[in-house]
Amino acid sequence: MTFAATILTLYPEMFPGPLGISLAGRALEEGKWSCDPVHIRDFAADKHRTVDDTPAGGGAGMVLRCDVLAAAIDHAAQSHPGNPIIALTPRGKPLTQARVRDLAQGPGVTLLCGRFEGFDERIFAREYGGRSIEEVSVGDIVLSGGEPAALMLLDACIRLLPGVMGAASSGVEESFESGLLEYPHYTRPAEWEGRAIPEVLRSGDHAKIAAWRKQQAEDDTRLRRPDLWERHIGVRVQSASGARYEKKDEGQ
Ligand code: SAH
Repeated sequence: MTFAATILTLYPEMFPGPLGISLAGRALEEGKWSCDPVHIRDFAADKHRTVDDTPAGGGAGMVLRCDVLAAAIDHAAQSHPGNPIIALTPRGKPLTQARVRDLAQGPGVTLLCGRFEGFDERIFAREYGGRSIEEVSVGDIVLSGGEPAALMLLDACIRLLPGVMGAASSGVEESFESGLLEYPHYTRPAEWEGRAIPEVLRSGDHAKIAAWRKQQAEDDTRLRRPDLWERHIGVRVQSASGARYEKKDEGQ
């Protein structure tokens, strides 16, 4: 099955862009996913093909018009009735690996890329082929447009499509898949600038190696991402006993 990506954008020439090379590029050639950039401007109704206007209430920049956007989204919703519709916006729900995995298991995705100050809010109050728009953010940063965010989301989905990644297991141990950051990696040379590869990794003892990696993943997550660690502990306590995560575990 081909994972169908439709991207609504003012810069269709940005796609597939970096997704046309390496792993994603090969997968595109093999038909494992399809890339269909749609120019939002094609849905402008006036002779100047206007897509934006000044913000109501005043202020800097321009806002993408709801009538033009809705026409573009309706078109995509009709072409791909099974695809979730996602608008990239810093006001959206932060993207997670769990959502990426869900999307990758589906038929594809329709992505709406903003520019300027963003979208007229009224597009989110409406349904398109029975579906409402999901608002997604790729981090607490402000990009100049939704296109890099769309590329990021697609890259994360494409690598999970069946047959795209070399070793079937390499997606499973990755950061976030277990709710933890991944353990650190090492390779040759065995010693570099006076620093040796941790002895345990050269021991050949697979059980010991697995235990070391688990410990590293837990320690690194606790130190680097206390937010993830708290959630991980919470989930574990909940699933083991049905109890909720208790605050006294915080910061351990
Ligand atoms: N005025 C808006 C930012 C607009 S940035 C605000 O302050 O919220 C222009 C466009 O870039 C947005 O419409 C969106 O599509 C995209 N964009 C910027 N930052 C993003 C982020 N963190 N995640 C997803 N899309 C983003």
